[in-house]
Amino acid sequence: MSPTLLIRPFQTPARGVAQIPGSKSITNRALILAALADGVTLFTGALFSRDTRILIAALQSLGFEVSADEAACTIRINGLGGRIPNARAKIHVGNAGTAARFLTAFLALAPGGCYELDGDEAMRARPMSGLLDALTAGGCRALKPDGSPASGFPFTLHTTGKLGRLEVDASASSQLLSALLMVLPLSAGAAVSMKGSTVSEPFVEMTARMCEQFGRPLERHADGSWFCPAPGAYSAQSSYAIEPDATAASYFIALPAVTGFRASIRIEGYAAGGLQGDTAFAKVAAACGATLKPANGTLVTESWSGIRGGDFDFNAFSDTFLTLATVATLADGPVKISGIAHTRKQETDRVLAMATELERLGIKVAPTAAELRADDTLSSLTIFPSKAALRRVAADGPITIRTYEDHRMAMSFGVLGSFDLFGDGRPWIAIEDPGCTAKTFPHFFEALEALRTNFVRVSVDGGAASGKSSTSRRLAQRHGLLHVDTGAHYRSLTRALLMADASADDLASVKAALSKLRVGSRLITREGARSSALTLDGILPDDADLRTPEVNAAVSKIAALPAVRTFLLEYQRSQVKYASDQGFAGVVMEGRDIGSVVLPDAEVRIFLEADPEARAQRRAAEGQSDQVTQRDHLDATRKTAPLVCPTGAHRLDNTHKSLEEVVAEIGEFIKVSALPR
Ligand code: C5P
Repeated sequence: MSPTLLIRPFQTPARGVAQIPGSKSITNRALILAALADGVTLFTGALFSRDTRILIAALQSLGFEVSADEAACTIRINGLGGRIPNARAKIHVGNAGTAARFLTAFLALAPGGCYELDGDEAMRARPMSGLLDALTAGGCRALKPDGSPASGFPFTLHTTGKLGRLEVDASASSQLLSALLMVLPLSAGAAVSMKGSTVSEPFVEMTARMCEQFGRPLERHADGSWFCPAPGAYSAQSSYAIEPDATAASYFIALPAVTGFRASIRIEGYAAGGLQGDTAFAKVAAACGATLKPANGTLVTESWSGIRGGDFDFNAFSDTFLTLATVATLADGPVKISGIAHTRKQETDRVLAMATELERLGIKVAPTAAELRADDTLSSLTIFPSKAALRRVAADGPITIRTYEDHRMAMSFGVLGSFDLFGDGRPWIAIEDPGCTAKTFPHFFEALEALRTNFVRVSVDGGAASGKSSTSRRLAQRHGLLHVDTGAHYRSLTRALLMADASADDLASVKAALSKLRVGSRLITREGARSSALTLDGILPDDADLRTPEVNAAVSKIAALPAVRTFLLEYQRSQVKYASDQGFAGVVMEGRDIGSVVLPDAEVRIFLEADPEARAQRRAAEGQSDQVTQRDHLDATRKTAPLVCPTGAHRLDNTHKSLEEVVAEIGEFIKVSALPR
């Protein structure tokens, strides 16, 4: 078991390209079809995961030449047109359902073969009997180690090389039927009919379409039985592109439901017209509030417009039900998921596993986990959302989700844990054995992490006319940050106090005036940058009114008063959350005490300096009468939050540097801080 993983909620928008691996279902089907083709096939975009490695290793142990380049996601396989080199082999299929079923039917093509097959404990309990019964009726023998007929793993398969007319009960898993369909063309006169119906029809459709892609289309007789009108070996493909996994994509369709503002995730190669039925998840997501923008085989998924409840039948794309089930805990109404009886016999009893873990998070479900345990025919799950319940249960610390060796449990709860439940970034979900995603998506948690944009806080401090505003605005524009000018806060407040006839020498008058003022924020655009400006009683004064000689003369005395600083401190700190909520990539805040007092843990801290003459000239050039050095003296010598170079700040003297040079220099620090951790 891999060590438990704490999920860090997203506090910034999830953005970027989702790194989704190739489809497991397609990779493993393609491996079987290519092994049965005449000649060499090359796969691109192939999945390398536990389940595909198991099948590759099994084919190699049977004598096939298979070479893989994991970094390039390619597999080269030499097909032998239906011949299986080794008549004897011992094969362990782990808990890989596709490998287990596909290989068993595949081996039946060997004349006089004898194969010992086994699987993990969980695989031993998964449906196999439908396939073994069909093959036995066709002339094979599947025997338990004690020699009696086997209905599941472990078993020894004695094969004849002929299939004949088979009847399969695939009601428990469509893979039992798919396994036989793929070997049909290799045995002249063979046909497969079904006892009753099967689940997950789209996977049967995928199999049939892939048989056709490899040159052997299947047809159905009037009685519904499948046959191959032109039997023979499959045709090798010089290059066969495996589609990205549509089930894996469901996690990234769901992620913007929980990560809020301005999410934008690109899912390359995701198209409804492809081989995978699980693309139907997109329709359910859209019905629940997802914002999906398909374009040329790419899907862009953005922040959802809420999460609506409803009734959904997941029978045809049941692998994705877990994705909705976890997000459903945050919905605005109950979510009913039906048609999932067969998932109770997959990697684990998925309905029971989901119900159990949701209940552990304080969520009400129907039927309850206890009811599901008592009756294994129950086939739906209703989830009653409650953020309050989640908060109550997670109040004392993160809850560790048990994953039951099921990759989909790990991934779907990973998405839920990305939700900022407490609004302060506190983790509240941990995933037990996150390594279990290796079954289909070895790098899932890295792919999730890669979508995290790090919110960057930049503090820019310095004396009057040291170039703080122009530098900060340009940085904001360049890096998508929100600009906050705290000097303007003190100026605005000074103006309001002067208008209320309050004076720095009469503390009572200042306190009385402050008690009546209401602070607020307004987004403005200045010099191409987006800035948050302070409003007092809803009023945003003109810039010129903040730079009058009266304000210039009074501001530093007013700003030295502890009561004034306390009045503004919380407001200034709240601008970080404001920037994050508005979807900015970070905040750049300028002033005298930003890196030392307001945001002492800012990721990037800058202290700007310039020669006094240069600064005086700058103000003169702006046509302002401003006693720059006097203000600096007052600011640097006051007791509360004096002007200092903050600890750990980068000192930058811009006397002889252009604005562009300064911005580029600071830009490097910002880029490093924004990289995903
Ligand atoms: O940056 P600006 O020159 O507009 O700031 C005006 C005055 O506001 C400064 O001289 C200083 O007295 C006060 N101030 C402060 N702390 C800040 C920002 C400005 O005391 N963080």
